Amino acid sequence: MTNKSIAKRDLDVIWHPCTQMKDHEFLPMIPVKSGKGVWLEDFDGNRYIDAIASWWVNIFGHVNPYISGKIKEQVDTLEHVILAGFTHEPIVRLSERLIKLTPEGLDRCFYADNGSSAVEVALKMSYHSHKNSGLEKPLFVSLTNSYHGETIGALSVGDVELYKDTYKPLLIACVQTSVPEDMSEEAAIKAAKDFEVLLEERADEIAALIIEPLVQGAGYMHMYHPLYVTLVRELCTRFNVHLIADEVLVGFGRTGTLFACEQAKITPDFIVLSKGLTGGYLPLSVVLTTDVIYQKFYCDYGLHKAFLHSHSYTGNALACAAANATLDIFENENVIENNKKTASYMTQHLERFKTLSNVKEVRQTGMIAAIELKGYKSEERIGLKVYEYALSKGVLLRPLGHIVYFMPPYIISDEEMDIMFDTAYEAIVRLPEGKGE
Ligand SMILES: *Cc1c(COP(=O)(O)O)cnc(C)c1O
Repeated sequence: MTNKSIAKRDLDVIWHPCTQMKDHEFLPMIPVKSGKGVWLEDFDGNRYIDAIASWWVNIFGHVNPYISGKIKEQVDTLEHVILAGFTHEPIVRLSERLIKLTPEGLDRCFYADNGSSAVEVALKMSYHSHKNSGLEKPLFVSLTNSYHGETIGALSVGDVELYKDTYKPLLIACVQTSVPEDMSEEAAIKAAKDFEVLLEERADEIAALIIEPLVQGAGYMHMYHPLYVTLVRELCTRFNVHLIADEVLVGFGRTGTLFACEQAKITPDFIVLSKGLTGGYLPLSVVLTTDVIYQKFYCDYGLHKAFLHSHSYTGNALACAAANATLDIFENENVIENNKKTASYMTQHLERFKTLSNVKEVRQTGMIAAIELKGYKSEERIGLKVYEYALSKGVLLRPLGHIVYFMPPYIISDEEMDIMFDTAYEAIVRLPEGKGE
């Protein structure tokens, strides 16, 4: 088997996610044979550093011996069982641990299979819990430039045009309030004021505000100050609106704390987790909420008050084993402290990008670093040029538009970071003169 033979079979049968398939007339599909640590290897023996953690999920490396071992143990014990009326030990243990680790006051876990469906769970729960209190609040608020997934409900509360525009007629009611413009405290205060104005007008219709705390991932790695999260928490409480913290991306150590909300010292009404939850092994997501919300659904049979939402694979035992193994690593190794060192090494590397003439801004929050390019038009597909060059040098970068970003697995070594940043630097220096302003 070679790259070519598998790629050909692939292109005959598979429709890939988030892809204009015609691009593959010139862009080779890369069939990955195996992974180890930050490295992926294809069928022709080329190796690539996974600088984007395979769409932001992989935190402890590919084929991590510890996580793999725990899944192997589980697979011979119980693979899956219906979660209605039945339970299993891995999910009970996982839930106990998540409740301990997440901000104080989040005391109930509801499971789904991916980030988008967990966002849908949080939206439905928020709406339904108000309804159970006798309030009709059918409107959601999200931040400009936000991303919460691509199923219809999750897409509705997002604001990245690229994904949303086509489907506008299908979406549920959502309005946007402005995200802080930059990482300053002033921007945070100004944006919170905007939200306050909206609440003063429409709070009685609004079920919840959903945010990506600190970093808007798919929204081109836009970053803002934790103060904003603190301020909107106060506002939500004051106006009886829920705060949903979508930590699908930022959760599990990515921003420098285990959860991003910790930096704002707040507890949201819902926290949504997925991506890093299983170390990047298996699809699993969870919504944690407060006992106050849980109690609104707890009553005698027959009042349409129960939360009738389910997925066939809810609480899959193998995925829970992977999640428990991931939490073991957080518990046994000094992950958050080590990440601080890795992040500061990233900061050093970023310095030299700042002086390049086609770089507009360099930004970083914990183990997310982004370089915003300037001077190009979107039809120049500058991100694609960076992608192709980096691949040819053995680094998987996948720029978002004009943003070249780095979100490697936490276990990346200094030498591997040298390769990653050196390659990105060469790729950016080699770019042609832009046609934009
Ligand atoms: C990726 C992502 C989602 C969607 O998760 P999927 O598992 O891809 O459905 C939701 N919210 C945020 C912030 C994300 O980054």
